[in-house]
Amino acid sequence: MIVYKSPEEIDRMRRAGRVVALTIERLSNEVRPGMTTADLDAIAERSIRGEGCTPSFKGYKGFTGSICASLNEEVVHGIPGRRRIREGDLLSLDVGAIWDGYHGDSAVSLFVGEPPSDVAEKLVRVTEESLEAGISRLRPGGRLSDVGAEVQRVVEGAGFSVVREYVGHGIGRDMHEDPPIPNYGEPGRGPAIRPGLVVAVEPMVNVGGWETRVLKDRWTVVTADGSLSAHFEHTIAVTEDGPEVLTARLEA
Ligand code: MG
Ligand code: MG
Repeated sequence: MIVYKSPEEIDRMRRAGRVVALTIERLSNEVRPGMTTADLDAIAERSIRGEGCTPSFKGYKGFTGSICASLNEEVVHGIPGRRRIREGDLLSLDVGAIWDGYHGDSAVSLFVGEPPSDVAEKLVRVTEESLEAGISRLRPGGRLSDVGAEVQRVVEGAGFSVVREYVGHGIGRDMHEDPPIPNYGEPGRGPAIRPGLVVAVEPMVNVGGWETRVLKDRWTVVTADGSLSAHFEHTIAVTEDGPEVLTARLEA
């Protein structure tokens, strides 16, 4: 069942989203080769709590981190730990925060230093573009599957593949609510898009095949073929006028 949000609820989510965006900005500014993913986790937790929020992920089904930090062939759900970040790594950061009972959720992929290859650089660019394209479909009058269809069109048009096993989601009092939002499929299906719908759209895009597997730590998702993967995510509220990105990057 989809829980549509009131303007007051969206206001709380706007606050959560802003703290998520601020935390991603801080991480992006502070990450350096030689740091561990646990170092980033500490920065993020301090940032989230310092803004009066609670990290969404910490303790979620036993997850130990405040963020997910996934490197290179890791798709999502990397557990912060002793793994050291190296020059040229593709780092995907996923951050969630709760303000007054409501969640914000956003992810970004970036290079630590220079991109290691043209294809890596293109992967990150296309993944972000596919998210923007998907978000543009979150307008009253459309149907929910329009979003994933648009993401898939952009990704596959660039020669990359869309992960199937993990999808976006409704968000609000729970981090993961109905409806699921696949990053693929036919347009014109599913629920009508209407004001009050708040969702997290999150394309996960691989250079190689779309198949993934989970490591023995039971969290970290990697590409089955070991190819690079990128992940971008925003939390978006649908308004009468169209999409409002609640986790939009802050002005510099
Ligand atoms: Mg997320
Ligand atoms: Mg999410």
